[in-house]
Amino acid sequence: MKALTFQGKGQVKLVDVPKPSIKNSGDVLVRITLGAVCGTDLHVYHGYIPMNPGELLGHEFVGVVEEIGAEVKRFKPGDRVVASFFTSCGQCALCRKGWFNQCVNKATFGMGANAGGLGGAQAEYIVVPLADHSMEPIPAGMSDEQAIFVGDILATGYFGAERAEITPGDSVAVIGAGPVGLMATMCASLFGPARIFVVDMVQSRLETAKDLGGIPINASQGEPVEAIQAQTGGIGADASIECVGLLSAVDTAIRCVRGGGTVSMVGVPSAVIGDFPYMRVWSKALTFRAGYCNVQAYMTILLDLIAAGRLKPDAIISHRMKLDDGEEAYRIFDAREATKIVLRP
Ligand SMILES: [Zn+2]
Ligand SMILES: [Zn+2]
Repeated sequence: MKALTFQGKGQVKLVDVPKPSIKNSGDVLVRITLGAVCGTDLHVYHGYIPMNPGELLGHEFVGVVEEIGAEVKRFKPGDRVVASFFTSCGQCALCRKGWFNQCVNKATFGMGANAGGLGGAQAEYIVVPLADHSMEPIPAGMSDEQAIFVGDILATGYFGAERAEITPGDSVAVIGAGPVGLMATMCASLFGPARIFVVDMVQSRLETAKDLGGIPINASQGEPVEAIQAQTGGIGADASIECVGLLSAVDTAIRCVRGGGTVSMVGVPSAVIGDFPYMRVWSKALTFRAGYCNVQAYMTILLDLIAAGRLKPDAIISHRMKLDDGEEAYRIFDAREATKIVLRP
């Protein structure tokens, strides 16, 4: 089968690899019908997340079940499914506490041997281990494009918004209008805020944020914290959702929030260490939350919100490309010429 592989810093390549097959009784073989390129893939591409040359890329996908292991109960061949970007067992102490992203048996797709050695989703087929607990069926009538982001960026946006403790009438600041920031903008509106500011420097992304109900703030044209304070009676936002992962963005997320407010960070950190402004967090008595999404806890909720027309995550897709053009997809996504790219095998 064809698959996109990491080949070294700044290099991806479409190659022919053996079609994967079921090895354990909880595995499901999925024929991928749509994959996506994610900001996290760019962290791999740039060498922030270590991967070995030749390993398969991609962790956002939907597809059709082709074959099931002997103990799989929830799926049968022919079912359309969306998978989380990581697997969880549902049985360990942390899964039983509801923290599936902390599962002791967790592994992540498309991140190579360092993340559990799973396959990649920018390919024609993938094996999903622990399938009963790592995927959900796609409701009848829902398209691949509507369902695909439930397994990662939409869940991440919702997780970020939920942990920002937004209450009706609040002012919220979303830092970053990339795919996750746009999802956070969409999800924040479910909690009833009066206004959602969206901070970025790319005008086209800010236009999309505006279409989703956000108030665009272009950080290249002025100090974003001052702009937010000016529109909140001088006090700042009640909560912020950080969706970039750069220290500068975390700093903006902290500075734009009023005393006693909440900062919810979901951006993938692009540095392992850095100067965290804990004095500011302490002196403003902020609640600071950070972490990547506990996807499995949100998939059915999100599929239902999409089915009901309350969320339209496919609105952010800017490029529909073939898997064959995957190398070009990485180039234009990295150059910020695309908001979100989906790949059809
Ligand atoms: Zn992702
Ligand atoms: Zn577990």
